[in-house]
Amino acid sequence: MLNIVLFGPPGAGKGTQSENLIKRYDLVHLSTGDIFRANIKGGTDLGNLAKSYIDKGALVPDEVTIQMLESEVNKHPEAKGFIFDGFPRTTAQAEALDRFMDSRNDSITCMLALEVPEEELRQRLKSRAETSGRSDDADPQVIQKRIDTYKRETAPVADYYRAQEKLVAINGVGSIEAISKRLFEAVDATD
Ligand code: AMP
Repeated sequence: MLNIVLFGPPGAGKGTQSENLIKRYDLVHLSTGDIFRANIKGGTDLGNLAKSYIDKGALVPDEVTIQMLESEVNKHPEAKGFIFDGFPRTTAQAEALDRFMDSRNDSITCMLALEVPEEELRQRLKSRAETSGRSDDADPQVIQKRIDTYKRETAPVADYYRAQEKLVAINGVGSIEAISKRLFEAVDATD
């Protein structure tokens, strides 16, 4: 199986690039942010819980997030592989994902880490706010909190995959097509 962790700060282009990766490699796309937002829309207990964290720019607790992710993976027994978008966001989540993959006799193939300068991230999130309808994009204070949370809790996850020699840094600046090409080359090099 081809299991890709697509990593990067908020606004790095993970959602956009996931779409191109799933088309090319026929993978199942699991975005924890999208799943939380669907639960919020559906008014589920999980959605109500997640909303209280998302609105503050904080992370939803690991236990809840890991359990949700595992049950989503289990919904796709026929999958040829997965793109994990926005997960893992803490080292504890990365460890749990490895244990879970191991229990399925599977593993993470690589982490593709999109790198974008902070000023460009802010600009992108600002323009995304005009169309995304996401309340966490609309408030500059929440954006700042998300960037701070990323630096403090999520950036160390890259070290976790670097230690396993699975980290591939990708320049996330340029046209969507140019960035997709870089990602495809990195995936093809893992064969
Ligand atoms: P995203 O759509 O990936 O930008 O995620 C939006 C929000 O959902 C984040 O700011 C977090 O509050 C929450 N979230 C998404 N993925 C995770 C995760 N793996 N762990 C904890 N919280 C998450």
